[in-house]
Amino acid sequence: MSEKSRETQENGKNLVRFECIKCGECCRQKGLIVTVTGRDVARLSSTLGMAAPELLRALDFYVLPENGNAPKGLRDTPLLKTESGKAYMALRKMESGDCIFLKDNQCMIHPIRPFVCRTFPFVFRDVAGRVKWGFSSMKDICPGIGEGSKATKQELVELCIAALEDLAIYREFAETWNETTAEPTVIGFLEAILSDVRFSV
Ligand code: SF4
Ligand code: SF4
Repeated sequence: MSEKSRETQENGKNLVRFECIKCGECCRQKGLIVTVTGRDVARLSSTLGMAAPELLRALDFYVLPENGNAPKGLRDTPLLKTESGKAYMALRKMESGDCIFLKDNQCMIHPIRPFVCRTFPFVFRDVAGRVKWGFSSMKDICPGIGEGSKATKQELVELCIAALEDLAIYREFAETWNETTAEPTVIGFLEAILSDVRFSV
């Protein structure tokens, strides 16, 4: 899809006011899985100097039960084969539900936070060449909606394009991994990400 052909709309609704007031709510939700892409992982690795074994301490792999349906909100997120079954790759959470990178209500990796953190509470979808935006199913926890000035169409388009391209590359990578890896392991998956030039940052 060419960038010229992209359009942004939220099912006919007007643009909304939004400003992140840094309350940290979205970083503390047990029910909100912070999925990561290949580029997110590569950025964590290069910035924090973490090789695959260290990354395993910061990441978690949420296994989808046999015959289970993808949870709402994760339907566009790639599932990858692991030694425990098909799983989503995400940031690890503490028992409380806090993200492992949340400290004193601040994000310790703010400049390199994953794309889902940059885009929350918005979500984006490519529907037959038209890029549409909407809200996360967890939008009600976010007090930033209705604050600040209206998000501009330009801002949403830029966020959309970057988020969807990031996800598309990761999806392609995960599909190849699922089709061609005889003995899939999470450590092998991380090593494959770190050696793939598409994720170079
Ligand atoms: S819940 Fe909303 S306002 Fe609070 S930190 Fe997350 S995005 Fe920002
Ligand atoms: S990476 Fe940062 S912004 Fe994202 S959930 Fe964790 S603490 Fe929050």
